Amino acid sequence: MSSISITQYFPFCRVNIFDQLVTERKSIIYARPDGRFKPICYICKRRCDTVHKWVKRPVRDLDFGPAHVTIECIYRQIFCVKCDSFLVEDLEFFEPSRRVTKRLARYIHELCKVLTIQDVARNLDLDWKTVKDIDRAFLEEEFGQTDYTDLTVLAVDEISVRRGHSYMTVVLDYLTGRVIWMGIARRADTLMTFFDGMTKEQKEHLKAIVMDMWNPFIKAVQDRVPHVKIVFDLFHVVKEFNKVIDRVRIDEYNKASESDRKIIKGSKYLLYKNPENISKPEDKEHLDRLLELNETISKVMILKDKLKLIWECESREDAKNQIDKWCALAESVHHPSVSKFVNRIRRYEYGILNHCDHPIHTSILEGVNNKIKVIKRKSYGFRDERYFSLKVIQAFSII
Ligand SMILES: [Zn+2]
Repeated sequence: MSSISITQYFPFCRVNIFDQLVTERKSIIYARPDGRFKPICYICKRRCDTVHKWVKRPVRDLDFGPAHVTIECIYRQIFCVKCDSFLVEDLEFFEPSRRVTKRLARYIHELCKVLTIQDVARNLDLDWKTVKDIDRAFLEEEFGQTDYTDLTVLAVDEISVRRGHSYMTVVLDYLTGRVIWMGIARRADTLMTFFDGMTKEQKEHLKAIVMDMWNPFIKAVQDRVPHVKIVFDLFHVVKEFNKVIDRVRIDEYNKASESDRKIIKGSKYLLYKNPENISKPEDKEHLDRLLELNETISKVMILKDKLKLIWECESREDAKNQIDKWCALAESVHHPSVSKFVNRIRRYEYGILNHCDHPIHTSILEGVNNKIKVIKRKSYGFRDERYFSLKVIQAFSII
């Protein structure tokens, strides 16, 4: 008989390894409680004298070479007088609620930082839900409590989580660019929940919050932290104005002659882009022809450019002048969607002027949105919004 032993790879102090079954793809290690220790309650850690019964369970451990390792563990069910119930003894190397060892659970959590749940599950031959639940439990412990310390400027945004109209609210610390909180839906009470977790001092510490012109969020800020300045950012306003441009484009298409329609057709994304980001010569030519052909489309494109100038103003007075000029020019287009947008700009002027006191760079928001989209694409969280939130917060904790 060989003297080679793999026992030292199982340094679990409360059990003895007493047998092993090793095949090419599978190893079973047999373990039982070390008689030198009295059983302890896994909840209160108290030593217990009353053994109710002996039980057995397979616990998956880290792989050994090409083989999956299972520890077939015998353990005791005890009666804990302190907890006043029948409980499982704590053998320290696995959580009684799990079918994997603590070290395998930690390894799964580490793998989930870089691989999808499906990849990890396939790799370790475990089911999807086991992997997700383990990763989620670690994330909950690490990021489950919102870190409200030192927040002064926040950005709040919404993301769509499923096709249709399922949204989540995302709050980030604008100064560090980190997502700190996510909540289901994009209602006023969603964002109120975030503020309700703050102490009075933490609320007082807040100075500004950046967002789009979305009434429920405005309401939540005015209700919970009324001293905080609301700032509307360029990124969202331009995104909204792109919708106006699209409306204008469709109306102009419907009015156009057959030959002009050919030019308007397929121009939607050209109009969305910043002209300096259009690289293909044929696209540039297409856009030039379109702007030459249609005065209304041309005007709204000028309005889009001029809209950006408002956010470049450093003083409230300059910004106010730019807004007035912009609105006058926009009214001259005489298009209902443009006029509606003018009314919105007028109504939310205060938040645009606040930008002069709290100038923020919208590129951060775009970057955050893109990063969240990547996490979403990896299929995290489609079934579990809480897990998705924790995954996003984790991704931003390591920047
Ligand atoms: Zn106990």
